[in-house]
Amino acid sequence: MSTQRRVHEVIDFDDLEGLYPPAPEYFDTAWLDDPATIEAKQLDRLKARAEAAANVPFFARRWSDAGFDPASIESLDDLANAPTYTVDDIRESIEAHPPFGDYQGVSVDSAAVEPMRLFTSGGTTGNSRPTLYTAWDREVGALLTARALYLQGIRPGDVVLNAWAYSTHNGAHIMDEALYKWLNCVVISTGTGNVTPSRKQIELALEYGATAILTTGDYLLHLADVAREMGLDPIADLGLTALPNIGDTETLEATFGVPVLQSYGFHEVQWVSVECPEKDGLHIFEDAFIVEIVDVDTGEPLPNGEQGAVVITELYKTGSPQFRYNIMDLSTLYPREQCACGSWLRKMAPFAGRGDNMVKLRGVNVWPEALGAIATAVPGITDDYFVRAYRTGNRDDITVSVVSDTPPADHESLAATVAKALHDAIGVKVGVEIAAPGALNESTGFGTVAKLVRFRDER
Ligand SMILES: [Zn+2]
Repeated sequence: MSTQRRVHEVIDFDDLEGLYPPAPEYFDTAWLDDPATIEAKQLDRLKARAEAAANVPFFARRWSDAGFDPASIESLDDLANAPTYTVDDIRESIEAHPPFGDYQGVSVDSAAVEPMRLFTSGGTTGNSRPTLYTAWDREVGALLTARALYLQGIRPGDVVLNAWAYSTHNGAHIMDEALYKWLNCVVISTGTGNVTPSRKQIELALEYGATAILTTGDYLLHLADVAREMGLDPIADLGLTALPNIGDTETLEATFGVPVLQSYGFHEVQWVSVECPEKDGLHIFEDAFIVEIVDVDTGEPLPNGEQGAVVITELYKTGSPQFRYNIMDLSTLYPREQCACGSWLRKMAPFAGRGDNMVKLRGVNVWPEALGAIATAVPGITDDYFVRAYRTGNRDDITVSVVSDTPPADHESLAATVAKALHDAIGVKVGVEIAAPGALNESTGFGTVAKLVRFRDER
């Protein structure tokens, strides 16, 4: 007799929706939970996740080494006793136990019994890192993503272009699943500009009345330029009603005439948080996650309001656990208080760069993304930038390349203005180069990669 079970046999959907309410009802229910309810749910789910992770060799080994007993969790504060881990630990696990590492809670063999998917992350630097997702993990992950997309303006019945890279990564796929399964949207799976040329993307959006184009903010702005070249007005003719795009909020809002609400997520766990219309921090989906902020160098938890690396513990999976995963993205945690939108869910600041891109320059911690933000705010400079770190003699140096369409004769004084703005902000001197529009595309991968490369470490 076959032991194969289909998705509808593996998942009790009433159970799933009770535990993790989907949009829109989420915003009338768990979104408005009081602090005691939020934290009681978290503690219950945290205990269950600790128990499950303890059966995964990667965690069992690390917890034993650190003297952490998963049964000792009696309060949310006890989570801090578990060791964190980073992508380097994952890489080691894969090297020692190829090709899946020993951090998966399930194996490919389980797919014969219940549906499963494999996606990888990384790959641009170092080897790709696999994650196995059970059917339950896919459904909840898509549901969480749908919550964010709903708050960002996408509604049932919308036609949506998904212009992210449908690749070995999870990103485009989880948005596709969220739109199709949990938001009843009609998805046009265009993929990136390499798969469906930019003009064709615009034509499809117009032909089928798309109300959102999911892609990077940079590529969306490029599509606006292409639309103008086609004699179209990005606001009046494209008529987008939702901008769930990552990038320069103000420029996107001005270009498309729609408010941008920011969100945060990553491959292994899907969407973690989303900004509410108050635009003051991203509410964390606390029924599915605990977010901590730790010191980039020491890994010690930081107080509210201090910027550090994001550490994530998921509270919903049945496959591969993420339990105090230091993702090395930079953010800040707000204290728990009731937002003007009514929610008590804790808020975090938007993604502020990569902690592992940090360069120590004459004793000062410098992040390429922060330099880019300062440099591109100078009048006459566009949003494009690229940062290089390299050795000069026995010290580290940085050069920030920015783009301007001003005459080349003005570039020297413009470079001096940018250099001064950077010096004023970070207290150390960095090199500045002014480039012509398009000159940085080869370095940033514009038009060919989903996430633009902004930094190269040449040391
Ligand atoms: Zn709010």
